[in-house]
Amino acid sequence: MDTRISGKTRLLGVFGTPITHSGSPVMYNFSFDYYGIDGVYLAFDCRESEMKDSLAAMRRLNMRGANVTMPCKQEAARNMDRLSPAAKFIGAVNTIVNDGGILTGHNTDGMGVVLDLKDHGKSVQDQKIVLLGAGGAATAIMVQCALDGAKSVTVFNRGASALEKAEKIGKKMKKEGVSCMLDYCLLSEEELLTETIRQGDILINATSVGMAPMSEGQSLITDMKAFHEELVVYDVIYNPEVTKLMKDAAENGCRKENIIGGKGMLLWQGACAFRLYTGLEMPVRELKEFLAKREKEGTPVLQDIVHEQKEYHEE
Ligand code: NAD
Repeated sequence: MDTRISGKTRLLGVFGTPITHSGSPVMYNFSFDYYGIDGVYLAFDCRESEMKDSLAAMRRLNMRGANVTMPCKQEAARNMDRLSPAAKFIGAVNTIVNDGGILTGHNTDGMGVVLDLKDHGKSVQDQKIVLLGAGGAATAIMVQCALDGAKSVTVFNRGASALEKAEKIGKKMKKEGVSCMLDYCLLSEEELLTETIRQGDILINATSVGMAPMSEGQSLITDMKAFHEELVVYDVIYNPEVTKLMKDAAENGCRKENIIGGKGMLLWQGACAFRLYTGLEMPVRELKEFLAKREKEGTPVLQDIVHEQKEYHEE
């Protein structure tokens, strides 16, 4: 029995479905233990239609905060008392902070990439970024890079309708004085894609292409001339740890230290949320060691999240 729980213990959690394999409870409870914080973090299965009830429960139970995952992020954003600038532009919330019944929605997904890049000694400031994809993760990354001073973000996507949605968000940001140059192109414009990457500083894959098991071994970059020595290559995919895009980049002139996979994004978006809940820095180094130990023991935490996403994508 956990004797740590008291009458004052605050509840936090994650809402979404499927949720039973979520790695978030391990990440946050590890961090609460590390600091001796009197909090407990649980996973709650929640469909989009149940999100309003979950928010009412957050207020009623005086929960300190909650993460939100698929498919509830947009519905959460529609029902917040306040929204952070990033969450407002994106129209989706992955972190909710409850201050005395006032619920503020944040989106830390894009920040996860920005902070992971920083952890690798790279800044997005004044950088020319090429972004593959215009889905949930891509939109969050586009907004955060623009807010954090990127020189330009050129979005390449398979379909036109998601590009139009991204463009709408870009127009809103411009109206509010965000100065980053934003461009929207179709992936079928292959020569333009190669040339834009050749001229770019950071290439980010924010599509599911390359992810195990469905598209492992695939990459959207087929022209190896796109890669160059100064290019930073970031892949949001963390299973497999080294994607085809990352292998191709390494074999075609990019420096090893400039090729980064998506595991860190997961940790750093959580670290951002942890700071919002507690005002403290998540013990990322210790958490990484703990996660590596679990992986070695054959009970990986992040692998569980991958299973959860796989189920979602297969629905
Ligand atoms: P989404 O469904 O909103 O978007 C998927 C994107 O992939 C779209 O832009 C779609 O056009 C593109 N895409 C899919 N198949 C394609 C193909 N064959 N050719 C070209 N484009 C294709 O999903 P999302 O939530 O944005 O997630 C995208 C990926 O990012 C997933 O693999 C997810 O696991 C990963 N992700 C990682 C983290 C992390 O912490 N590392 C966080 C969020 C998402």
